[in-house]
Amino acid sequence: MGYYEFTITLADESRDAVMQRLSASGCLGFIEYEKSIVAYFHDVTGINNIIPEVVACKTLLENDGLELEISFDYVYISERDWNESWKKKFKPVDAGERFSVLPPWEDPKKDRINLIIDPGMAFGTGHHETTRTCLMLIERFSRNCAKDSFLDVGTGTGILAIAASRLGVKRVAGVDIDPNAIDAARRNAKLNNLDNILIQEGTAAPALGTFDFVAANLMSEILIRIAPDLAPCLEKGGIALLSGMLAGQEDGVIAAMQQQGLEFMEKHVDGRWVSLVMTR
Ligand code: SAH
Repeated sequence: MGYYEFTITLADESRDAVMQRLSASGCLGFIEYEKSIVAYFHDVTGINNIIPEVVACKTLLENDGLELEISFDYVYISERDWNESWKKKFKPVDAGERFSVLPPWEDPKKDRINLIIDPGMAFGTGHHETTRTCLMLIERFSRNCAKDSFLDVGTGTGILAIAASRLGVKRVAGVDIDPNAIDAARRNAKLNNLDNILIQEGTAAPALGTFDFVAANLMSEILIRIAPDLAPCLEKGGIALLSGMLAGQEDGVIAAMQQQGLEFMEKHVDGRWVSLVMTR
């Protein structure tokens, strides 16, 4: 078993469209560089299925009127070499006022809240704008309100749930539909010595109970689809942090959440990514 690592060189304006498309085609995660992105696929997806997906990005860019210049190369990485490959690429990153995200093999930073994350096969290392915006907003809203309970929908590595727990939130839950994410999130909760985080396979559901703070860093289509299940998880007066949508997609998410009784509070833009704060 192993992975395919695709290095895709493309124009900056085409980046988000290609990343969304490849995520929907089974891409496990990305590392972003100035002029390229590196995309990882499980080898069970089959190289004969992956290449046409990458090639199809060109048609997508053409349809969206974006810069068409795109080239790629790929290598196979065996399971054994996987961790070594990650280690080289995962560097510590700061987020919010006090957080530093770092892998277990780096030394913790002094005077920072260190979030130790071993990504395994899950998303959420703090290198993506949306994760960093979420960390900044969790820090801000945990200060005055939303202190007792926190639900992280699409927890990935568990990074947001771990951040909430480190800020002193008492009851923390994280859900994800991907079993790899569940493994990673549980392992990371332990790495950070936190025992108040419940990680469970699944998605937002009223059966989880209600929370003061619900974070969901997901694509807009998913946020819209799960709105009827996510809204009931939010306590009256609580904070919903919705992230992961591209600029222009936020109105659809706001409308879907409003239909479920949430009210718009704030919008944050970082690059082409948008995060929303809503309440109930
Ligand atoms: N919370 C992390 C990871 C976000 S990536 C961060 O902010 O960095 C999005 C995660 O959502 C992925 O792990 C994916 O498996 C999960 N996901 C996708 N659709 C979902 C759904 N309908 N319900 C719950 N999780 C979902």
